[in-house]
Amino acid sequence: MLRKLFAIACLCATSASAAAQPQSIAPHTYLLRGGFEAGRQPDGNSVILLAPDGLIVVDSGRHPGHAQAIVDFANRRDQPVVAIINTHWHLDHIGGNPRLRSAFPGVQVHASDALAGAMQGFLARYREQLEQLLREAGDDVGKRAPFEAELAILDAGPALAPDHVVSVAGERSVAGLSLRIGLAKRAATEGDVWLYDPATRVLVAGDLVTLPAPFFDTACGSGWVSALAALEDVPFETLVPGHGAPMGRAAFGRYRAAFVQLLDCAASDVEPKACADGWLAGVGELVPASEQPLARMLLDYYLDQVLRGDQPAVQKACEA
Ligand SMILES: [Zn+2]
Repeated sequence: MLRKLFAIACLCATSASAAAQPQSIAPHTYLLRGGFEAGRQPDGNSVILLAPDGLIVVDSGRHPGHAQAIVDFANRRDQPVVAIINTHWHLDHIGGNPRLRSAFPGVQVHASDALAGAMQGFLARYREQLEQLLREAGDDVGKRAPFEAELAILDAGPALAPDHVVSVAGERSVAGLSLRIGLAKRAATEGDVWLYDPATRVLVAGDLVTLPAPFFDTACGSGWVSALAALEDVPFETLVPGHGAPMGRAAFGRYRAAFVQLLDCAASDVEPKACADGWLAGVGELVPASEQPLARMLLDYYLDQVLRGDQPAVQKACEA
């Protein structure tokens, strides 16, 4: 999300992987994994549901290759994408909306209304940061490319935004498929949507569950804790996080406990390294050794910038 993440992605990722393909994870359910690659911002996970009236895509990634993999999947099956559900407005989850809209005219986007506020606040500041980074890059084409790509997403404006605002939780039919839609206000963002498919018992949690560490940039800590408690009450068998591999109920329980412990640690005067140690011990195998350096860098950054201070951003975001 932030300037810092450009540096983190450069430091931690080792190589660019081949374009991923959607993998079956349950009946009528496919997962296109997002990931961190060298020198660029992440893509979030996308879930594709084969619904009676066409394909439902939950989150569209950030980079053109990710969204194109969804377009190619739909074209191979000769089924159009008819609906997009965005779990939240972070660019690694909505950046592919314009490409899907142009490939499948008539696609309907469902999301909370939080993007509008973010465009005036967080994303307006992000645009300023990108413009500054471009000035610093001068005419170095290679350095400019990732910042220009981010600005291009922001410039898409209305093509990123929902056609249907999710303002209440409940059961609804999307593209002929019965789904339970959840809405957490002031959690990872001001409006986080999740969805549950009772036919497969798959829960798509968006960035309420994010590995190798929670992304706190726009988070309200107490709201996020409440949102995780609400997810616990959903009778899911498989939970798809916003970033990372699908998990079962026991793994989610570990994530949730480690999350609460991390916020408690952040609110104490324990040194940052010990908070990161506690997080990694709590989540265990959910964060393999190869991803622990990235988790530590993220947590170092968030403890310094978001979780601590006179008026921590993670508390300020809970105010109206
Ligand atoms: Zn994300």
